[in-house]
Amino acid sequence: MAGSAQPRTMFEKIWANHIVVDRPDGYTLLYVDRHLIHDGSYFAFQRLKSRNIKLRRPDLSFGTPDHYMPTDTRRKEDITNPNSRRMVTSLAIHGAETGVTVFDIGDRRNGIVHVVGPEQGITLPGITLVCGDSHTSTHGAFGCLAFGIGSSEVTHVMATQCLWQKKPKTMRITVDGHLGKGITGKDVILAIIAKIGAAGGTGYVLEYAGSAIRGLSMEGRMTLCNMSIEGGGRAGMIAPDDATYQFVAGRPYAPKGAEWDAALARWQALPTEDGAVFDREVTLNGPDIAPMVTFGTSPEDAVAVDGVVPDPAAATDVVKREGLTRALQYMGLRPGTPIGDISVDRVFIGSCTNSRIEDIRAAAAIAKGRKAVVPSWIVPGSGIIKEQAEAEGLDRIFKDAGFEWREAGCSMCLGMNGEIGRPEERIASTSNRNFVGRQGKGVRTHLVSPAMAAAAAVTGRFTDVRRLLD
Ligand code: SF4
Repeated sequence: MAGSAQPRTMFEKIWANHIVVDRPDGYTLLYVDRHLIHDGSYFAFQRLKSRNIKLRRPDLSFGTPDHYMPTDTRRKEDITNPNSRRMVTSLAIHGAETGVTVFDIGDRRNGIVHVVGPEQGITLPGITLVCGDSHTSTHGAFGCLAFGIGSSEVTHVMATQCLWQKKPKTMRITVDGHLGKGITGKDVILAIIAKIGAAGGTGYVLEYAGSAIRGLSMEGRMTLCNMSIEGGGRAGMIAPDDATYQFVAGRPYAPKGAEWDAALARWQALPTEDGAVFDREVTLNGPDIAPMVTFGTSPEDAVAVDGVVPDPAAATDVVKREGLTRALQYMGLRPGTPIGDISVDRVFIGSCTNSRIEDIRAAAAIAKGRKAVVPSWIVPGSGIIKEQAEAEGLDRIFKDAGFEWREAGCSMCLGMNGEIGRPEERIASTSNRNFVGRQGKGVRTHLVSPAMAAAAAVTGRFTDVRRLLD
């Protein structure tokens, strides 16, 4: 075949493997291998029910309530907002009616959907995976094509196990060299978004490559891919390697025995081939990346912790200048202020970006033997992570340091569950969006890594975590 001689990207291989039919107008019907569902999928279930349509493949769909569940309780009866209570309680009912496996509240496997998928071995290399949440890009860390879909698309996938998509372009972002001490996947992705802009990846699937990316743990890779959407990307992906296979092996829903051997052989053929052409290439130098802090209301508004709040007047583009001016007004910051001089009112360590065991360990390493000087929450990504952290004594470290150790869930990432800040409260947050009002009306969100958030908790301001590590 002439076409097979052409070197292909990992994305092109996965895309080609899932085409059901190409339409003349440029749309492709893609087969969906896994559909992840959360408590926000309530209306999709209702739509199917009202039309008497059965789920096409309930065995490939997995649900977990996370968005609407408060993290100070595991009792659904304690949810005070009746709408939230209905969303959370309905998921298990819908699961029982349709045959979808649901990791319900009270089940140790419950947690944030993008934490649970990989943890259970539902997320695998080479698959297509969708979910009605933008940060589905997280799963691309395993070398699969994973992206968020809208509510009507959720219904479509439930009914058909397929999805119409227009083929995106490809961008490779290469980060080479060793990352410095205390530099995490979160700093790398904030540095990338600061470079390409929040719309820089629009229309592209991003593949992250280079020695700095390969050196990241699976947790770090998930953090990186999680925020691909914040750089505008349709999805983010990283070629699977031994770290990927080790993470997946033995997980409950991962292939076993002969099926594992066959899967491994397929997965090893996935990485982008030498000479494959991307529509756009971007490079960053790993050793140049410092701990990052956002100062504005877009994830692209990120600078190194030893930097200063930029002056909007320096922006050449008038739209950018006006946007930055508005952002600084909202954030209550003056141009030229050193990031290290900005004090925080509160700290949130959690969300699908940074609530995995490695994130919790990194925060605990900073909290150990110190005291939080502002209210600080630790919200593990799943019940299993919570258990693991407790087995390692990390909860004790946090409690001794005055942090609040919570139950699993989305919590303050988006404040749909009543867990929000107060107007003008300044929060160091390990989540993924610093948009206006994301953590509550008037709340000022600064995105940082878990270690940087813990450093802010114990010093009351943005502090270069490398100093505390020394
Ligand atoms: S933690 Fe935030 S971004 Fe992640 S799934 Fe929950 S609400 Fe969405």
